[in-house]
Amino acid sequence: MCSLPFDSGLSAVGGPLWPRGTALLTNSLLNKGTAFSERERDALGLTGLLPPRVFTMEEQVTRVLANVRRKDNALEKYIFLTTLQNRNETLFYRLMQDHAEEMIPIIYTPTVGQACLEYGAIFRRPRGLFISIDDRGRIAEILRHWPMTDVRMIVVTDGERILGLGDLGALGMGIPVGKLALYTACAGLHPAYGLPITLDVGTDNAALREDPSYLGLPQPRVRGDAYDEFIAEFIEAVQAVFPRALLQWEDFGNTNAFRLLNDNRAKLCSFNDDIQGTAAVAVAGLLGALREIGGCLADHRLLFLGAGEAGTGIADLFVAAATSEGMPAEEARARCWFVDSEGLVVQNRPGRKLAHHKLPYAHVHAPLRTLAEAVEAVKPTMLIGVSGQPATFTPAILRRMAELNKRPVIFALSNPTSQAECTAEAAYRETEGRVLFASGSPFAPVTLNGRTYTPGQGNNVYIFPGVGFGALACGAKEITDAMFLAAARRLAELVTPADLAVGRIYPALTRIREVSLELAIAVVAEARKAGLATIELPADPRAELIARRFEAVYRDYV
Ligand code: NAD
Repeated sequence: MCSLPFDSGLSAVGGPLWPRGTALLTNSLLNKGTAFSERERDALGLTGLLPPRVFTMEEQVTRVLANVRRKDNALEKYIFLTTLQNRNETLFYRLMQDHAEEMIPIIYTPTVGQACLEYGAIFRRPRGLFISIDDRGRIAEILRHWPMTDVRMIVVTDGERILGLGDLGALGMGIPVGKLALYTACAGLHPAYGLPITLDVGTDNAALREDPSYLGLPQPRVRGDAYDEFIAEFIEAVQAVFPRALLQWEDFGNTNAFRLLNDNRAKLCSFNDDIQGTAAVAVAGLLGALREIGGCLADHRLLFLGAGEAGTGIADLFVAAATSEGMPAEEARARCWFVDSEGLVVQNRPGRKLAHHKLPYAHVHAPLRTLAEAVEAVKPTMLIGVSGQPATFTPAILRRMAELNKRPVIFALSNPTSQAECTAEAAYRETEGRVLFASGSPFAPVTLNGRTYTPGQGNNVYIFPGVGFGALACGAKEITDAMFLAAARRLAELVTPADLAVGRIYPALTRIREVSLELAIAVVAEARKAGLATIELPADPRAELIARRFEAVYRDYV
């Protein structure tokens, strides 16, 4: 890996590599649109290609913001924003940064879920690389088709578990594209460093296969040895073509996600955001909740609905956090209980064999079928929804949590909003406003008995941009769980009394740049402590990291 920031190699304006005229206007990284000055227009062959009036960036932002707001539905806003990104990235990121709270839910969850579902219909211009199972034997060659040679951050999916929407095959591309946009908007990774990739191995979504407009391979998913060989070739190719890249595994089905992470994290600097990023944001939420209700992790019993990547990832990091506070790991694990699609996860459960990742949390208990029964048996202090199943935290379950706890902690993390286990409104209403609530996708503030609650968004966007940026900046050889724990702790520290006063256990999204920077600093410190940093940074790396951030401002070209 190498230090940031990006050097485009184009610094010599007017040099042989520099695009002019239409080539400059269609280069999304360099284009300034109507903000090209008269001198630039003269010098770079732009005169006549643009309307005569020169606008400032502020004026452009006002105009595009009005245009976004004029669109009457979220998908139209998404289309508008992706078109802007393809035309003028600096302006796109200025808008994202200045209006993060409004723009992130469009470019990311919940709207990105709808965009993926309709990716075929709204497809205009490709972004990222599609590598299909039929490309075996030539993956390195395909990576070289990418126009940027110095890629530092790859976000890759095989589309099997897109948000809580299931198998969307090649339509999942919206997710890596959106996540990379957040790396830039939230942490300041130069946009030229990012590469979104979709690995198309088919889809088990029969409706998609039969849809004549489906963009991917209309065949069942390839699994087993052929899949593994494909992934192995992909990893080798990434190492050969982009040796400095950090790789984020994204929205793989859980049969592959755990394996891919565990088998590859030591040989390829990589992490799985659904497992590790989710874990860090949820543990940060638990720590943030403790700041409001007092006590420590050891006082709590967690019940999860959903025992997949997100759920067991959160539990694993909870165990790491609790052990670092002095609790034996066995005891910390005993405090985590799971309900999956077949009921309470217990030892010797009749039926299908338990998947490997659930075994540490299969306690000795009689099998129970429903979440309501599990709540009675476990008497959790914290209830965490990561099942992708909407309305499963029923009013009766929410009320029972409020009977069992003075301040119940309830997270409905499934995305997008349509899949959340309960709404914010239901959580506050059924607990008489006593709940500490967070959701994966944003919910509007809720007013109850004259008090307004602003639910926190327990979304990975608080974690992965900062972790990735920090790891890249110090050239981390590996991304460890300790780095995610350091990020989670720092995130919880950044919650202010004002946040807590409105019921929010995460910092406001408007502070996301500052949050990502603080997390990056925490990750650099942890990498150094573990001897994993390969790039020297000053003892206090803050100023250096700030200097390395991509700033969405126009440069004078002449
Ligand atoms: P996964 O497929 O690995 O796991 C889903 C789990 O839910 C499985 O254990 C499954 O058995 C269980 N489940 C399915 N139906 C159920 C039912 N009716 N009752 C009980 N359990 C049921 O998926 P994952 O990666 O763990 O993600 C799960 C959800 O969490 C998704 O909706 C995803 O969007 C969300 N998530 C949110 C964030 C965030 O930022 N908040 C991050 C990652 C994942």
